[in-house]
Amino acid sequence: MEIACIIEENNKIIEYGLKPEHRIKYCRIVRRKINSRNRFYLQLILEGKPYQNPDNKIGFEEIGLDVGPSTIAIVGDTKAELKQFCSDLVPKQKEKRKLQRKMDRQRQANNPQNFNTNGTIKKGKKKWKKSNHYKKTSSNAAELDRKLAAHRKSLHGKDINEIMAMGTRIKTEKIPYKSWQKNFGKSVMVRAPSMFISGLKRKAENAGGSFNDFPTHTTKLSQVCHICGNTVKKPLSHRWHICCGIEMQRDLYSAFLSKCVNVNTGSLDIARARMLWPGLEPVLSAAISRVIQSANGWNCPASFGLEYRRQSGSPVKPEATVTEAVDAVIRDQIYEDESHREVI
Ligand SMILES: [Zn+2]
Repeated sequence: MEIACIIEENNKIIEYGLKPEHRIKYCRIVRRKINSRNRFYLQLILEGKPYQNPDNKIGFEEIGLDVGPSTIAIVGDTKAELKQFCSDLVPKQKEKRKLQRKMDRQRQANNPQNFNTNGTIKKGKKKWKKSNHYKKTSSNAAELDRKLAAHRKSLHGKDINEIMAMGTRIKTEKIPYKSWQKNFGKSVMVRAPSMFISGLKRKAENAGGSFNDFPTHTTKLSQVCHICGNTVKKPLSHRWHICCGIEMQRDLYSAFLSKCVNVNTGSLDIARARMLWPGLEPVLSAAISRVIQSANGWNCPASFGLEYRRQSGSPVKPEATVTEAVDAVIRDQIYEDESHREVI
């Protein structure tokens, strides 16, 4: 069978990829369901370096990075940034859960013979009846899922480009994936932090930079103080690092410490941290001011812990992520046969 493929014209990425010096290593066919219709794409795996968008600048600073369940802190040499991590995905995720619950209800209504009186599914082999309503909901869920993945990809890409504009030598703590999964559930995992990190690593290395990550349990950056060197266990609800005259938003402070980790030993270089701190403290504080300004002084995401600043002395407000975590206990999907993922 021979099928002609449609090649988008004036697409710089495709034009670059199809240059003769980029030999085709192998091809794969990808199926995507778009509006419940199958679309087939040809993916070419090519030799050489990926296309660099000339609009995306590449910086030369050394970056300390802290990716939290809902925040991301970036500390360079002259600039720092504190922002929410993929928070735009949360409404879509909630919508998706609503659809999944609807599917559950429809499935149960169509197949009462497969359920026990307490609502659990009977064991053993079963036949499932799928009503047209159920199929409609299922295809809506699939479409939403696809949009969610595309949206996530674009948000990740934006954040990665922003980091790369500052620098491509990146240091960060490994994400404690298992513990996040346990403590925060799907509302956080929908942001796909591991996918974000591996994308960043790939792009930074392709741009001639480096990527170093170190296990949390050896560095304990979220608990250590670079002046006295003490490790203080802080629950996640403490959004500020306060010790030895330092008062800093926790994620930014952790990103700063990541920047000061010796990549050869994988441990914190305290002397370096002490040397860099006086120059970087105003940079970090400026990042906080920008967050407060952009949030108009109000509606500031609680996960930044900036509430603390405005009501000095009063207890820190419980952070949004905790509420989200409670909110996020979603049963494992039982829709394996309805797989919404793309198939390779
Ligand atoms: Zn201290």
